[in-house]
Amino acid sequence: MPTRSTKKPIRVAICGGGIGGLVLALALSRHPTIIVDVYEGASTLGEVGAGIGLWRRPWQILAQLGLEADMKKITNYEPSDNFVAAFRYRKSDQETGLDFYTLLTKGGLALAHRVDFQRVLINHLPNTPHCSKRLCSYKETSSGIRLYFADETSAVCDILVGADGIRSAVRRSLLLREAQEAPSDVAEQLRSCIEPCWSGVVCYRAVLPAARLAAISPHHRALHLPMQYTGTSNHLVAYPISGGQLINVAVFRARYDREDTVFDGPWVHNMQCDFIPAFGKWEPEVRQLLECIDEFKQWAIHTVRPLPSFVSRSARVALLGDAAHAMQPFQGSGAGQAIEDAYVLASLLGRAAESRMSLDSALRLYDDIRRPVAQDVACRSRRAGMYYHHLIPPTDATGGLPSLLVHDEDSEPAAIEKLGRLGDLLAWEWQWAWTREIVELDIAVEDACARL
Ligand SMILES: Cc1cc2nc3c(=O)[nH]c(=O)nc-3n(C[C@H](O)[C@H](O)[C@H](O)COP(=O)(O)OP(=O)(O)OC[C@H]3O[C@@H](n4cnc5c(N)ncnc54)[C@H](O)[C@@H]3O)c2cc1C
Repeated sequence: MPTRSTKKPIRVAICGGGIGGLVLALALSRHPTIIVDVYEGASTLGEVGAGIGLWRRPWQILAQLGLEADMKKITNYEPSDNFVAAFRYRKSDQETGLDFYTLLTKGGLALAHRVDFQRVLINHLPNTPHCSKRLCSYKETSSGIRLYFADETSAVCDILVGADGIRSAVRRSLLLREAQEAPSDVAEQLRSCIEPCWSGVVCYRAVLPAARLAAISPHHRALHLPMQYTGTSNHLVAYPISGGQLINVAVFRARYDREDTVFDGPWVHNMQCDFIPAFGKWEPEVRQLLECIDEFKQWAIHTVRPLPSFVSRSARVALLGDAAHAMQPFQGSGAGQAIEDAYVLASLLGRAAESRMSLDSALRLYDDIRRPVAQDVACRSRRAGMYYHHLIPPTDATGGLPSLLVHDEDSEPAAIEKLGRLGDLLAWEWQWAWTREIVELDIAVEDACARL
């Protein structure tokens, strides 16, 4: 006969109502002895008007949380074990573009409009998040963690989860506090992880009506297929979303010599297409896509340096999603990793709520399980960006800047042959995304708990 838990309910505060925070709230809401509050800094929950791709395991997690039917309505996706084309790659920095690789992945990629995805998450939440609650700092006391918000209110919780994105206030408070108590070399390392680091890449995002593109190019590949149009130091991703009514476009321009310098200007802002002349000699499909867009949202891609832990020394505060491991977007996995964080953290906190496992152990196991994986994906994503830009990443031994793969003197067949091999490498480094299953996360949690 199941025994009823007599433990006190655990109060979990989630700072940030992005994808990571909302999935965590949903996953925790299945545990009756956990009280969840989401504190969102903005006055309403909002998502950027752009597309998002979700790989196999994040999809399985959403399915397990009861979202599959609604997710199917907003994506092209039908889970399967068949290998299907997730992206087609073209060499496009020439008048006649050429296909050089088709990325075949188990089950393919679920593509959605972010706003639709967020709506699905919100519709499934049992409680409404508290909006206009921008966390400024927190203080750990013997009776719990006190949260201080910009509107001069405060709240108390037992566990604080910083799901507050790349400029996380929770990460800042946590690292500043730990640095104060650490030896000077460790303190310096901790402080270096507070501010995000510019990747040298700038992205320009837009969503355009498919009908507009079809009017000037009825057979444009991006109307039907997820496409990657690549060239040296620049590339575009374009894929249909919202049942083919809209096309998501992201243009990337890389300056790896600027990596880890300070980005000059606002990180995110709307802008006209002043970079379009750089694509003047690209294949017509690229020029047609750009012609259809009046305004882009510029996005300077920043990352979080590898943190020594996702959890405070007190094991009462945890970081999740971009707050913990914001990465370059080239394996389409930042949100997927946030979803995996949420799933693992909720499983462990659920066990702590319902068994003799302590909260400290739950948070420390979360760090053990998730940090190596998420940080590895971040490294792979950085290298993938270089491949898209026809560059060979430096090795740890050589260091320095990436080198050119395709040279002006290469014949067309030689260039395509080199790019084809690059495609194989890209797929090999990315295959974790379609070969890992949710059951492996369950086993990792099970094994970690058994070792306690
Ligand atoms: C161009 C581009 C393309 C991408 N494509 C993909 C993709 O295809 N697939 C994929 O998996 N990932 C992709 N990503 C990555 C993905 O968008 C992020 O990793 C993901 O959105 C992070 O979610 P999050 O919840 O951790 O953070 P966020 O989405 O940043 O959410 C943080 C939330 O916290 C709130 N907040 C911030 N500060 C405070 C505070 N002090 N107090 C309270 N609330 C606060 C914010 O308002 C926000 O709502 C892409 C990223 C980029 C830039």
